[in-house]
Amino acid sequence: MVKLSIGIIGGSIAGCAAAVALGRAGHDVQVFERSAGRLESRGVGITIPSTVIDSLKEKQLIDDDFPCFETEQLSYHVQDSASPEYGRSPYVMQPETRFKQFNWSDLWRALRSRVPENSYFDSQCCIEIRNNDDYSEVVFSDNSSQRFDLVIFADGYRSMARQLLFPSQPLNYAGYVAWRGVLEERYLTTSEPLEKGTALVWRREGQSIFYFVPSPKGGVGVGERWVNWVVYMPVDKEQWSHYLSDQSDHDQVASLPPGLMSNAAEEALKQRVTAELPDYYARIINSSEHTFMQPIYDVCLPDYRQQRVCLIGDAATLARPHAGSGVMKGVDNALSLAEMLAQTDDIEAALDEWSSQQADTAQQSYLLSRKLGQAFVQDVPDIASFSEEQIINWLYESVA
Ligand SMILES: Cc1cc2nc3c(=O)[nH]c(=O)nc-3n(C[C@H](O)[C@H](O)[C@H](O)COP(=O)(O)OP(=O)(O)OC[C@H]3O[C@@H](n4cnc5c(N)ncnc54)[C@H](O)[C@@H]3O)c2cc1C
Repeated sequence: MVKLSIGIIGGSIAGCAAAVALGRAGHDVQVFERSAGRLESRGVGITIPSTVIDSLKEKQLIDDDFPCFETEQLSYHVQDSASPEYGRSPYVMQPETRFKQFNWSDLWRALRSRVPENSYFDSQCCIEIRNNDDYSEVVFSDNSSQRFDLVIFADGYRSMARQLLFPSQPLNYAGYVAWRGVLEERYLTTSEPLEKGTALVWRREGQSIFYFVPSPKGGVGVGERWVNWVVYMPVDKEQWSHYLSDQSDHDQVASLPPGLMSNAAEEALKQRVTAELPDYYARIINSSEHTFMQPIYDVCLPDYRQQRVCLIGDAATLARPHAGSGVMKGVDNALSLAEMLAQTDDIEAALDEWSSQQADTAQQSYLLSRKLGQAFVQDVPDIASFSEEQIINWLYESVA
């Protein structure tokens, strides 16, 4: 194996995973993150297959006592005038694939703590790439520059590397958003409906999801947990400015972190779900403060490399979140790159092989997540009128 100098742009999930994997493999790695300070406050609940958590533990990327919950069941709920509090549950699914639910910030902290302090530089914004056949140079906003054998862009869904190197692959706005929030368990009237797993609550305008995650301090005991919720709903691009507060960037559809959605828009949404969801679930949303909104985009690159630049995580492929594959994809890209480089001294061959494998896998989850987005948000049938058998058939057809 040839030892490489590697610059990583972006110090979030994919960037830290790459730094750990490539650093352990013996490469000389440096991470450059645009944000100042720690990224803990960014994410909320994440769902990924339990096997992925097991493999992260096996690879010592997270500790054995990593705080998370396993979903035993997915219960469907619809509004019902005979049962206004909880609605009716036409289907309860025991999924073959088990999922674990956790806090985004716990995963980031676990990965970040494994990156040596002297390899991670925050407040470093990359503004330019000079890409060549056998090295790549990155320029930062303070006009300093550094040359590396390989530069990995893990710079997220609005990746500058994707825009510069793959201009024919723009982000596609899916036409809907995820409105999200969290509520401490102590504010629930009862925890029982969420005890066994995830509640999927259906409106014709899109699915809503409710599940427990550990508290930001890692609390997993009854009473300490937080409820994570997501409401998907269509929003035309033209209507976007209606949701923004005065401090927001009105020119593009971008994520609205807590505080950037206008109070009036948040109140209007709360009234809407009160009318459309069973009372228990509407109350969770109405009691949540500092809600936020993420527009759903997708894009899938045909190649994960160009000369001495590689892209990983959301920078390379952004799949709609319904398949729960986002975090796994970024970590997989990183681990497989380290493995591929370890197998040969022929860097070009290793990068080509890695790139084509990543693109093939990404294409599958990209297409699946589009189908799920269509079924779960854009073209939701009247689940309330479905029998259990009809729901099962509809689910099979949705992923076929
Ligand atoms: C509504 C919603 C629900 C989701 N649910 C799930 C789920 O349940 N399960 C799941 O697996 N995934 C889920 N995801 C997806 C998951 O959150 C992402 O796939 C994952 O966080 C992406 O990680 P990343 O490291 O690739 O990018 P990011 O986390 O976006 O990190 C990119 C980093 O690069 C930095 N950066 C950007 N530009 C520069 C620059 N020029 N210079 C230096 N640094 C820069 C940024 O500051 C940032 O820290 C969900 C996403 C959404 C929107």
